[in-house]
Amino acid sequence: MSILVVGSVALDTVETPFGRGEYILGGSATHFSIAASFFTDVSLVAVVGEDFPDAHVDFLKSRGIRTDGLERVSGGKTFHWQGRYGYDLSNPETLKTELNAFETFKPKLPKESRKSKYVFLANIDPLLQLEVLDQIESPDFVACDTMNFWIESKSQDLKRVISKVDAFIINEGEARLFAKERNLIKAVRTIQSWGPKTLIIKQGEYGALLFHGDQIFSAPGLPLEEIKDPTGAGDSFAGGFMGYLAKMTSSDVEDLRQAVIYGSVMASFNVEEFSCDRMRTLSQQDILYRYKEFQNLARF
Ligand code: AMP
Repeated sequence: MSILVVGSVALDTVETPFGRGEYILGGSATHFSIAASFFTDVSLVAVVGEDFPDAHVDFLKSRGIRTDGLERVSGGKTFHWQGRYGYDLSNPETLKTELNAFETFKPKLPKESRKSKYVFLANIDPLLQLEVLDQIESPDFVACDTMNFWIESKSQDLKRVISKVDAFIINEGEARLFAKERNLIKAVRTIQSWGPKTLIIKQGEYGALLFHGDQIFSAPGLPLEEIKDPTGAGDSFAGGFMGYLAKMTSSDVEDLRQAVIYGSVMASFNVEEFSCDRMRTLSQQDILYRYKEFQNLARF
């Protein structure tokens, strides 16, 4: 099965203790699509400005990603996010969020995309997530992501989105913020009561927790020697997660567990280089090998 994704396609300015990149390829839908493309076909819905380099579009296409839903606004500028990470590499400090072309974006899905069965609403304005979801005819599995920026500014719209999804993928701190609850389990239960049966709590370098109804699964974080830029780890996680489910045409609980591990595998690669650069040389063999490392790490 193929996947439809809506989210940001961006030019990011990122500073970590290990380097700096200016106006480099980023965005939630970008990181997601690239990671998912190692598992299945992906169609991307987003908007960019005139300043977006053709070479980036060529890279997406070279990964087999369908870009006919990627609009280019003449005279407009591409979404720009600027962030800085400290030594703990956990939550970045957002220095700038310039929505630019996204401010006036009205997604219109190509006819074929309306029939998509696997849909991912990557981090973007919840109203855009809703507009896309409303155009899909009868999806089998819908998941979404968000971040503090939208939780703080559009909490009610976000609640409308998650009332319509099967799975919600969110950072631990953001889950607490959204549910207004310190205790993680209580926060998860509160969010589940708003709609999604499945919740994935991302815990940065410590791994991820899957809540499915009453069941809980814990995936470890792989201790890595090389971490240069954590930007896009969450979206690459989601790409591996959804990519695996779509490939298996499944959303049963055993496959959800496997999917969390594939998500962790893809996130672990993404952080090794700035932007999406690690993905340019990644092979299926690398993915398989790292999957086995995860298996070994948690075997007892
Ligand atoms: P993450 O996987 O959470 O590290 O996501 C990083 C990506 O999210 C970056 O490449 C940014 O371009 C993008 N991003 C940052 N802020 C926002 C926002 N408010 N809405 C949509 N995308 C964003």
